[in-house]
Amino acid sequence: MKNGPNHCAPSYDVIVIGGGHAGSEAAAAAARMGARTLLLTHRIETIGEMSCNPAIGGLAKGQLVREVDALDGIMARAADRAGIQFRILNRSKGPAVQGPRAQADRKLYRHAVQALLKEQPGLDIEADGVEDLILDNTGAVTGVRTTAGRDISAAAVVVTTGTFLRGMIHIGDTQIPAGRVGDKPAIGLAYTFKRLGFALGRLKTGTPPRLDGRSIDWGGLQVQPGDDPPTPFSTLTDRIAVPQINCHLTGTTPAGHDLIRDNLHLSAMYSGNISGPGPRYCPSIEDKVVRFADRQRHQIFLEPEGLDDDTIYPNGISTSLPKSVQLEFLKTIPGLESATMLQPGYAIEYDFVDPRELKPSLEARRAKGLFLAGQINGTTGYEEAAAQGLMAGINATRAASKMGAAGGNGTPGAAFILDRADAYIGVMIDDLVTQGAAEPYRMFSSRAEYRLRLRADNADQRLTAKGAAVGCVGPERVARFADKMAALEGAAALLDELEASPNRLKDAGIVINQDGVKRTAKTLLAYPDIDLGRLASLWPELAAIPPAIARQLEIESGYASYIERQDADILAFRRDESLEIPDDLDFETISGLSVEARTKLAAARPATLGAAARISGVTPAALTTLLGHVRRHSTPQQQSGSVSA
Ligand code: FAD
Repeated sequence: MKNGPNHCAPSYDVIVIGGGHAGSEAAAAAARMGARTLLLTHRIETIGEMSCNPAIGGLAKGQLVREVDALDGIMARAADRAGIQFRILNRSKGPAVQGPRAQADRKLYRHAVQALLKEQPGLDIEADGVEDLILDNTGAVTGVRTTAGRDISAAAVVVTTGTFLRGMIHIGDTQIPAGRVGDKPAIGLAYTFKRLGFALGRLKTGTPPRLDGRSIDWGGLQVQPGDDPPTPFSTLTDRIAVPQINCHLTGTTPAGHDLIRDNLHLSAMYSGNISGPGPRYCPSIEDKVVRFADRQRHQIFLEPEGLDDDTIYPNGISTSLPKSVQLEFLKTIPGLESATMLQPGYAIEYDFVDPRELKPSLEARRAKGLFLAGQINGTTGYEEAAAQGLMAGINATRAASKMGAAGGNGTPGAAFILDRADAYIGVMIDDLVTQGAAEPYRMFSSRAEYRLRLRADNADQRLTAKGAAVGCVGPERVARFADKMAALEGAAALLDELEASPNRLKDAGIVINQDGVKRTAKTLLAYPDIDLGRLASLWPELAAIPPAIARQLEIESGYASYIERQDADILAFRRDESLEIPDDLDFETISGLSVEARTKLAAARPATLGAAARISGVTPAALTTLLGHVRRHSTPQQQSGSVSA
């Protein structure tokens, strides 16, 4: 790959700091695209560590995993190698809101991520902390300074330090400086961001105690089996080979709620020791008891952490109460009366960077060549981190190369941006860079306007070709995708060709309006009670369509009329998105804007008129003023150019 403008070639094209979920994807993506890449992380053995729950995916998160996979990221493949219970959540509802999820063996997952990174040509991995960033006198990043005292140069740097920036663990009134349990915090880098003038905030999250499964009374507990057969995450995985297990369900009791209420003053979250807001949608048990005071029971999923590990993760009771209260609380839960606690629950508070500091490419506005991804941007969750890491890795590589991959993505060197109609990834990044993160941000399907399109089942159809155009998709996936598309197109053409009259359909047991009008197999497939199996009784050649392709056709036919309507909305959305707002626009100079609109626009620096419209407090009148100003001052190219891939 070509070097950047530096006279003396940097040691690496891209350096990635951090080997969590964001860092692993960023490093893999950069190396896949041909960048000479270095991954620097505290400890090689913790690469791919799941800091909290041993599970990947879920509602909306599962879509993110499939999208990462569609762009040839590693998370889905790692989950397939480590998954010990797979479930499609919301199976009874439509495919648009279903979410694939896998309970993962913690150790197998870590090993799978590490193996996938090791297999990646062009990627060096070293155990060393990063203490500082090195910038040139134009403010562009040129490298990093490590704990071991080395200066390593790079054309672009991706920071993915998770919960580590000035991380502080809280258990009751005990405070331990840490990035997560067992790991030191990152202090130097936190001060770097402060020195560079980044807007920083403080957030918190928590984790439940870990239990010894041998001390749990499983007898009376409800069993929760996984899907049989399990559905893999990755389109590259043919079959799940890992043995599958059951989870169990229990719940809190009124006695436990009383105990928590009596001890609230001892909880780190409630005693005033933690200032930052926590994840509203993943609340601690203290939060649940206070906020839902009339509830008699909160569900707890008892999730095994691994096949050869007796540790149980009690999902639903994260807490920062003192250890002694946690032990008492466990005694009030059916099945856990005699449970041994292997590690107490804790809360962690950490610095994050206001994501409005970033462009939609995830490059920092105030330091060229510096990209941020993952929990450092105010998100929570492995999937959110992985998806950002992937995009930051791609864009860091494009920034480093100063040239775009041939074809497909507009201007050479332009950032690779997915918009809100392309992917959940686009929704998330747009939300972050335009709205900021007042609380830990996690993905929900309700955040996506075009969720009928953004389904888990069609992530590859939405994204793989775009990824291939920028060079982040390897040859194996390109070939598999081409095969799938050829099969889909062939089967769709066949459905279009086959047609029958209402009379003939009636003879085959398919009753429709006897209006004399012939229907194609494609039209019939859109009927709610008709699937390919039924149509095959009339047209036996349809039975030869492979099951996965058949399922895809059924889903697409079922949604066709809704998606057609949604496509009109998407056209209107993309019209607004195509009107770019110059990066250096000084909102203060726009007369006619209210102080509130000016302040909000200046904080978010929206990249397009569409993004400006999504900032709360920016009124239609302000948008009209902004539109007039941009039209008067922008070049024709800015007015028509699209930022979408
Ligand atoms: P991480 O996975 O944290 O990885 C950061 C990486 O950076 C690590 O490898 C670390 O060693 C490395 N690193 C840090 N600083 C440096 C440095 N200076 N130099 C070199 N390397 C460095 N998510 C949920 O969805 N639900 C939850 O309930 C939940 N609870 C959580 C509870 C706790 C206690 C913790 C710690 C996290 C929790 N999370 C939860 C969040 C989830 O773990 C993260 O969202 C996810 O791991 C973020 O991924 P990341 O890649 O951004 O960072």
